[in-house]
Amino acid sequence: MKHLDICEIFYSLQGESSYMGMPCVFVRLAGCNLRCSYCDTTYSHSRGRMMSFEEIISEVSQYPAKLVELTGGEPLWQEESPALMQALLERGYTVLLETNGSLYLDEVPRDVIKIVDIKCPGSSEGDSFQFANLKLLAPHDEIKFVLTNYPDYCFAREIIQRYQLAGRGLHFSPVTQLLPAGLLAEWLLADGLPVKLGMQLHKMLNLR
Ligand code: SF4
Repeated sequence: MKHLDICEIFYSLQGESSYMGMPCVFVRLAGCNLRCSYCDTTYSHSRGRMMSFEEIISEVSQYPAKLVELTGGEPLWQEESPALMQALLERGYTVLLETNGSLYLDEVPRDVIKIVDIKCPGSSEGDSFQFANLKLLAPHDEIKFVLTNYPDYCFAREIIQRYQLAGRGLHFSPVTQLLPAGLLAEWLLADGLPVKLGMQLHKMLNLR
């Protein structure tokens, strides 16, 4: 029987990405291979509780939404997580995967919608992205940059240009304590970048 180390399972509105605002069941996996400076889920770095796939799916199915997101921590840090994604797809769920981009995406089922971080230098994990992952992205996948300052913005802008990412789902999210969203909006407007400003809706609404 397959098991995963689970930090928590909860129900909320999706707060980032093109799915922002939609009711979603979150499966937060325990453990992460990175240590970002602004991490707001450090509690997920320690061990959670081992749950079988049947237990996880049973808990997910107690909520009415058919949208489920695997998040962390880093979901791909546990090698059984792609099999859970497949099991959820087979039960009719739309499956989102929030991943930090540092681990290879080749095992992720193609129908999963991947929301992939490219870590900027201000995260202190700026060299972590696996650029080979860009070739594994499907048209429905999305890329997110979390920004702490203007050098991060310049880094993200340069990556978009160098790897010709315009036309993909691109999101720039400010770390609220470090970078005012209005200032980031001014930079985006000045450059006319083809990205969406991400505002972490769940935090604005004081949801989980
Ligand atoms: S990848 Fe995510 S969970 Fe891991 S340290 Fe960075 S922000 Fe925290």
